[in-house]
Amino acid sequence: MQAKRQLQHLKPYKPGKNVEDVQEELGLTKIVKLASNENPFGCSEAVKRAIEKEMSELAVYPDGYATVLREKTAHFLNVGTENLIFGDGSDEVIQMICRAYLTADDNTVMAAPTFPQYKHNAVVEGAEIREVPVRDGRHDLERMIEAIDEKTKIVWLCMVNNPSGEYIRDKELASFLSQVPEKVLVVCDEAYYEYVVADDYPDTLSFMNEHRNLVITRTFSKAYGLAALRVGYGIANTSVIAAIESVRQPFNTSRIGQLAAAAALEDQPFIDHCRKLNREGLEKFYRFCRRHELTYYPSQGNFILIDFARSGDEIYDYLLRKGYIVRSGTALGYPNAVRITIGSEDENDDIIEHLQHYFQHQTQ
Ligand code: PMP
Repeated sequence: MQAKRQLQHLKPYKPGKNVEDVQEELGLTKIVKLASNENPFGCSEAVKRAIEKEMSELAVYPDGYATVLREKTAHFLNVGTENLIFGDGSDEVIQMICRAYLTADDNTVMAAPTFPQYKHNAVVEGAEIREVPVRDGRHDLERMIEAIDEKTKIVWLCMVNNPSGEYIRDKELASFLSQVPEKVLVVCDEAYYEYVVADDYPDTLSFMNEHRNLVITRTFSKAYGLAALRVGYGIANTSVIAAIESVRQPFNTSRIGQLAAAAALEDQPFIDHCRKLNREGLEKFYRFCRRHELTYYPSQGNFILIDFARSGDEIYDYLLRKGYIVRSGTALGYPNAVRITIGSEDENDDIIEHLQHYFQHQTQ
């Protein structure tokens, strides 16, 4: 039996190595995973208290509309409840957008390298993929505009681009949106929104009234520290949300996920704390890179892409043996680089010390 033709060359998503496998493989006692941009500080204590209470309700289906979370998020963002859609992570929001909008007659425009799920889901729908190479890790918005034609349905902007960590400036976004035809959906993926500190990072929500083709995706997986519970969301005008809602599974977010996300949203001091520590960690990595004259991308996310001017796999293997799982750039479109999630202070110091040793050893 033959599956869809476009699936023949599509590989399932390959996550970073998991801790248990590496532990067994290398016989290490302590393993730290800094490969998937998770929050090294976990989640708010308020979340743990909130979900404990839900344990007696596990036999009951969740509220498919996620009413409580919806109302809290709408209030927090100052948008209408009907401007939101919740997903099984923002991964699912991306999937639902593709499902609702793309057909084999359409094309979709995105940067390369960028977050792979835009391409993956668009391929599943049979759409033509138009990839525009990034310049110094940044979206080449002029060329992305040029790539749009009458068959373009969606343009993807990875606002803090994964894997580079680079971002789209407010003036750039304003100019871009004013040039994109109204019937083309522009999806701004803001998975790392809570980590951003740049003054000229756009207030994407403020563009929504003027640009009714704008969709913003965000997540509780990163700074909120709830990756295991899989809750992400999309923000858009009501007609776009209605279209995406029609492809949503009835109970796509879990009871515990909804409750945890609602509690997490209320603890903004936790987010501020994580943003600050993340920035301090990034600065340490910057200093390390400058000391060793390594090229790196300044990051607005909770990860850093460092060009080691040698195979990323080599650095990856070295760090793995020291108990750190990072992400080799080989699979991310940067074969000489490694992407490292910013960890706790001790983890950052330790990994930097290992890299320091690596370089000393190399130059002897
Ligand atoms: N967008 C980007 C840019 C990401 O890096 C990720 C996570 N790796 C996601 C979306 C999806 O995250 P989640 O499904 O956990 O919300």
